[in-house]
This record gives sequence, structure tokens and C-alpha cells, in this order.
Amino acid sequence: MHNKTIIELAKGLRAGEFTSVELTQSFLNRIKQHETLNAYITVTEELALQAAKAADLKLANGDADLLTGIPIAQKDIFCTRGVKTSCGSKMLDNFVAPYNATVVKKLNDAGAVMLGKLNMDEFAMGSSNENSYYGAVKNPWDQAAVPGGSSGGSAAAVAARLAICVTGTDTGGSIRQPASHCGITGLKPTYGRVSRYGMIAYASSLDQGGPMARSAEDTAILLQAMAGFDPKDSTGVDCPAPNYLESLNKGLDGLTIGLPKEFFGDGLDSGVAAVVEAAVKEYQKLGATVKDISIPNLNLAIPAYYVIASAECSANLSRFDGVRFGYRCKDPVDLTDLYVRSRGEAFGKEVKRRILMGTYALSAGYYDAYYLKAQKVRRLITEDFKRVLQEVDVIMGPVAPSVAFAIGEKINNPIEMYLSDIYTIAINLAGLPAMSIPAGFVQDKPVGLHIIGNYFAEDRLLNIAHQYQKITGWHEKSPKGFE
Ligand code: GLN
Repeated sequence: MHNKTIIELAKGLRAGEFTSVELTQSFLNRIKQHETLNAYITVTEELALQAAKAADLKLANGDADLLTGIPIAQKDIFCTRGVKTSCGSKMLDNFVAPYNATVVKKLNDAGAVMLGKLNMDEFAMGSSNENSYYGAVKNPWDQAAVPGGSSGGSAAAVAARLAICVTGTDTGGSIRQPASHCGITGLKPTYGRVSRYGMIAYASSLDQGGPMARSAEDTAILLQAMAGFDPKDSTGVDCPAPNYLESLNKGLDGLTIGLPKEFFGDGLDSGVAAVVEAAVKEYQKLGATVKDISIPNLNLAIPAYYVIASAECSANLSRFDGVRFGYRCKDPVDLTDLYVRSRGEAFGKEVKRRILMGTYALSAGYYDAYYLKAQKVRRLITEDFKRVLQEVDVIMGPVAPSVAFAIGEKINNPIEMYLSDIYTIAINLAGLPAMSIPAGFVQDKPVGLHIIGNYFAEDRLLNIAHQYQKITGWHEKSPKGFE
């Protein structure tokens, strides 16, 4: 059952081949069996079985949705009422959310069955999932390797078939890079497409929630349920979501693909480059034409991002003060001691590094030199993309410079780690939608193809991904031991 698509499962549920309770139980068993992957922080067994029972009732009554009764899981950054929402941090290890994030509410309303909460880098800061208070997640394709981050638990869970589909968030690449490293499909929507209400903030002007699944088709179904304007998110955009499933089947004749030369320069693994080139050739067979393009300011994306993201996180994380919620140190002697020790004891090393960088960049005298400058660079990068997307329909390239690296390999070298997102970060600065789809293997580890589209063109991206998946089988491969 765990290898079926959402549509196949929906049919099976309606035909009475199995119930949602049976389906859910089989996933709960798999999660237990593969506990050592560390993909889940919390498994909500009882709630899942309750939700499955309710889904079976809905199915029997004939008022079910495509997602009704389908086992999914949430990245532990989304608030879930009555369930621990840790954000991968000791700071929130004792935090039980009093309300549901909009994304959680929408998926619950659709009748999806939440199996639990997925492991992640602390406060979504990282590219390897090694920054989690709950320990590293293993990549199902090679358990000595990282799954990518920060949605590492999400990607590993889908690859290992420990959920049919899951949510992730992408501030600088955290849906696409782990999707690439785990051989699954992930979509970072346009900024504003999916509500951020109840999604714990890292860098508010960049954070965007999105779907992760095995295929573009499943991703489309999940996005349909997640997307839509939410008055509770002041940065949401009131732009109706089209029918994503309907758009999947359009032909690709006449599609123009731009290949930025900056995506294929130094630092890109030659095996990864070969996989991307082969995928582009497949698109040419489907009727696409290819154009060489340039994003001249791309090399400024990483420095600009680390100023902006750190600045925003230093402000967002000031709410964790040991007073209102989360961790509180023992026996503080005064208020300063309460703040200093609560934050000092509960935040991990990377989070502290970002808060320090951000506070520095925002301080008087440095604001103009760093933060304002970074915002200007952000504008230049955005203009580059806007110009190029008038000439081509989509941009393609690698998602990450290499396949999944070894656990421990980069953890002591933050600059090296930051470079893992060299191809993804600029897209967040520009607010564009983008996908990673499985496109091949290098040394038995998956490689993703990066597809970047124009604002609110998620339907086009899904269509382009689906057409490729119809003629290739990369997205159907499963790691050894998880078949
Ligand atoms: N790796 C990047 C960072 O650490 C991006 C993380 C993300 O997208 N949440 O900030």
C-alpha cells in the first residue's frame, strides 16, 4: 500500500479494498520498524487512528475528498493543537501548540490523517538536519549521509515510505535541497501562495510552506489543499489557486527553458551536471527549446541571504525569552539571568550564530552597511529573474552542487554548509516558485532537477514535472530496504 499514489489509494479506499484505519496502521508499523532513521520527532498514533476512523466514516458517507484517509505528516514547524510543536529546538521541547496552523487546519479539514511531526533543523536553520535538538536524520538512500535540510525529516519520511506525502518549509532551499538529496518531489510555492499562519517564523520575508511527495501528481493534490488566501496571513496573496491536477496533462511543445550559465560554473559536481544535462535533453524530446541565459547577480545571493535571514531571525526569535512559553532556566536570580540563561541553555549553536549575526547587522551604524545593502542586492537579483522570465518560460539547473554529503562532513564549517544552497537561495530572495524533481543518481545517491517558474506559475511547474515523470521512472525508485 505504501507505494501507491494518492489517486490509487483514494480508489482503493472507495472500492473497499482497505480502510483508512488499516492504511494508517500499516504506516504506523513502518514508522516503528524504521525508527532509526529518526525522521519523526513525535508520532501521534492515537490521534492518527481516530482521524482514520473519522475518514472511513466520511468515505462511507460519500463526502470524501481526494486526501480523505491518506496518511500524511507535518514538519514540526507547523503548530498542531494539543500536540508538541518543537521546531527542532530544546526551546520548544515542552511546547504544546494551543491552535492549528492554517496549513494543518486545511489538511485536517480535507480528511488527511496526520501520523506525526517530522524532524527538522532547529528553527529551520540548516542544510543537513544535523542542527536538530532531536539528533540528525539519516538519508534512506545511504544511512551515513545527511537527508539535506531543514526539511530533512520530511524528505526522509517520503523516501522511506513513512508517509504518503508531507509538508515542508523553504526559506532558502529547505524543501528543494532535501527533496533532491532524498530522490523525491518538492515544491516551494510563490511567496504568499500558502499561509504562514501558525508556521513558526524563521525569516518572515522568505519563509514559505509547501508540499513534498513522491510524484508531481501527489504534490499537486497536496498543494491544492494547502494553497489559498488566508486573512490571518498579512503577506498572503489573494490570487485564486487554479486546478492543479487539470493542468498536469498539457503538452510541452514550444516550452522555452533557460539555462543560466551561473548554475553550471565552478563548484558543481560533474556527475550532477551530467544528470541535469540529460534531463534537459528529455525535455527537448518533449518539444522544449533551450536558451542560454544569465543571472548576473546570482553570486551575491548567499551573502545577501545570510544578512537578511539572520536579521529577520534575530527579531523573530526574540520572543523566546523564557517568560511566555518554551524553555525556562532553573532558579533565575533576576530578570537578566532569566533571559540570558533561558536563551543560552535552550538555543543550539547555529541558532545562536544567526542571532548574533542578525543583531550585529541591524545595530545602529551597521544597518545601512549590511541590512540596507543586502536589501538592495535582493532587488537586483529579483530584477535579474524578472527580466529572464520574460525571455523563457522556466529556468532549469541543479538543486544542489553535489549529492548528499556524509553526516559530520560539513557541520564544523558553516561557510561550506551555507554553500549547499547556492542554487536555491536566490529564488527565495526573488519570491519565485520552484521545484526539485528526481532526475537520476550519482554514486547511488539521488540528484534533483531544479525547475524555476514565474510568480504563481505553480500549475505550469507541476505540469512540466509531471510530463517528465510520465516518460522517466526516477521518482518511482525506492531506497534498498524500504521497497
Ligand atoms: N539552509 C538555509 C539556512 O540555513 C535554508 C534553510 C531553509 O530554507 N529553511 O538558512
